[in-house]
Amino acid sequence: IEPSEHRPSQAIVDLGAIRHNLTIIQARMQPEQLLYATVKADAYGHGAIQISKAALEAGADGLAVATVDEGIELRQAGIQDVPILILGLTDPRGIAEILHYHLTVTVSGTEFFEVAYQQLQRSGELALLDECTLNFHLALDTGMGRIGLRTTAEVRAFAEAINAFPWAQWEGVFTHFATAGGGPEAYIQTQWKQWQSLLQAVPDTVRYRHYANSAMALWYDQAIPSDIVRYGIGIYGVDPKDQLPEGDWPADLAVNQQDAFKPALSLISEIVHVKKVTKGSKISYGATYEAQEDEWIATIPMGYADGWLRRYEVFPVLVDGQACPIVGRINMDQLMIRLPKQYPVGTTVTFIGQDGHLNNHVSYLAQQIDTIGYEILTTIGKRVPRIYL
Ligand code: PLP
Repeated sequence: IEPSEHRPSQAIVDLGAIRHNLTIIQARMQPEQLLYATVKADAYGHGAIQISKAALEAGADGLAVATVDEGIELRQAGIQDVPILILGLTDPRGIAEILHYHLTVTVSGTEFFEVAYQQLQRSGELALLDECTLNFHLALDTGMGRIGLRTTAEVRAFAEAINAFPWAQWEGVFTHFATAGGGPEAYIQTQWKQWQSLLQAVPDTVRYRHYANSAMALWYDQAIPSDIVRYGIGIYGVDPKDQLPEGDWPADLAVNQQDAFKPALSLISEIVHVKKVTKGSKISYGATYEAQEDEWIATIPMGYADGWLRRYEVFPVLVDGQACPIVGRINMDQLMIRLPKQYPVGTTVTFIGQDGHLNNHVSYLAQQIDTIGYEILTTIGKRVPRIYL
């Protein structure tokens, strides 16, 4: 799907806010720590190429993505000479492209190297191993239960077996904490202990030992700093726990604190149709909504295919500084709202972001439906153009 330029629904991304957030982040880091901007899932819906460029200009040392394709997209956009770490596991049969694009892979064992070697042999591309280095990080599972080796015996065996693959450069090890963004705090210490114990089996030649995402970096500074900080959500100006800055919706906005993260993304549209319906009129699929009196109903070109999911019907949108409820079911491409009075076609409608004194903060929305800001941001549809300020 190509983004539509002929439709007023847009995600406005404020690169100034991204730079502001990065300044706060860098001020909190130790000089020797490296900052990798986590730009997976199209930079959490903000647009991976633009956010990566902005982050690198602001001093980020590297980028982190989830897949090979996400890495290739960035290299093809001209982002060279900075490390791009793929955080997820990768199919070793894609080794030729991984080498060609200088992507750093994450592995969970030595099978990756065996299969990658066989693949290059089969395709007659073994010479690539002389021309390029494969950098890799080993994942350690200290309690997330997702990817990585779990015991010191496994790590020791890996450290031994990896010598059979001298063409691979073991650059880092990392782990991921399960409860830094919410959940039992004591579990952080459980994972930390396991991390320290697994690290004892990692050879000294491995340069980077990293564990911090936004939440770990913000709140759980550990005695030993993470060599790389894989900052994601904080860059986009959203709190990992969706804690709201004081004064946010539904109360009036407090004066913006200088040192607070600024959400970078606003999602807006416009009224494309407006009418007065008589009391008792039904609205939308299933005829679930019935007008309680004569009401002004506007239609907005935003639907679940744009990422405004059916369960978001509980979120009011903002029109002229007022909260207006969504009425009836959200459709694939359109939805209806109730206005307090008549507003003309072309009036701005804010789904995420500020309008007057009200702010549909993404964390506020997330709290309402028991989800997380990450999910709301990453589900904004491909069809919605991203416009950069
Ligand atoms: N590191 C890993 C391994 C991740 O999976 C993620 C994202 O989920 C991040 C870092 C970035 O996390 P955050 O956006 O919470 O900073």
